[in-house]
Amino acid sequence: MDRDGNGWVECQLGHRHWGLQGAAGLLLHTVDADGTLRVLLQHRADWCHHGGTWGLPGGARDSHESVQEAALREAVEETEIDAAQVRVRHTFVDDHGGWSYTTVYGDCVAALDTVPNEESAELDWVRVDRVDQLTLHPGFGHTWPRARLDPLALVVDAANVVGSVPDGWWKDRAGATERLGERLRPLMSTTLHDDQMSGVVSAIQVVVEGAARAAVLPRPVETVTAQASGDDAVVATAQTLSGLGRRVVVVTSDRELRHRAGQIGNAIDVRGASWLLDLLGP
Ligand SMILES: [Zn+2]
Repeated sequence: MDRDGNGWVECQLGHRHWGLQGAAGLLLHTVDADGTLRVLLQHRADWCHHGGTWGLPGGARDSHESVQEAALREAVEETEIDAAQVRVRHTFVDDHGGWSYTTVYGDCVAALDTVPNEESAELDWVRVDRVDQLTLHPGFGHTWPRARLDPLALVVDAANVVGSVPDGWWKDRAGATERLGERLRPLMSTTLHDDQMSGVVSAIQVVVEGAARAAVLPRPVETVTAQASGDDAVVATAQTLSGLGRRVVVVTSDRELRHRAGQIGNAIDVRGASWLLDLLGP
């Protein structure tokens, strides 16, 4: 039944919430050309419950809907974003007992155009590191510290990844590296989520060495040219990014390099070439 989710509920934490079957909101991420991670937030109109605060587009779930459908439907109603451009990802449930709020993650290649409806005073693509500075809707403020995603920087050991597929790369190392760069490009703005990490790819740095140094990689993929050892360049790049407070994913199957990268710090995840190739698909 349409709109059979509309109504107020009191949760076991003593809050009053909208949504008889719970509610869902869309946390939509995108990454700018300069690597800035942003989320789409709604500045709620003054007449709304908790008017004047910032939160996610979203609302009550109807009984016939999945949480993903509810979040997307409400977001489209409130922002007029083009749903076809939204890639729906995983979810995060904030269960208050008797009522729950599901954050539905989505990402898109570029900031989508928005048109506010009467529930929105304003819609804005807010930098993730500035969200805390806004006056947040209490529900969103409750969820945000646990629901927020980090920007992820991928540091790819190109020689190792290219060398893991026997496709004749040894005849043209630069060409094979350029093909890898083309395949990596669509990973920008992509959400990666598993047991160990959650984040949105906001930088892709490909370390090239030896004969592959002639490779020209397509923006926004960045080339790091190793002057000597490729392994040293991977470690130095990961160290620099991690020193800037970035969460880093080093991609290599080289055992010694995996060990070195793993020692840099907690903000470094190390993944093998096959993990990356699975992500890129056939
Ligand atoms: Zn509650």
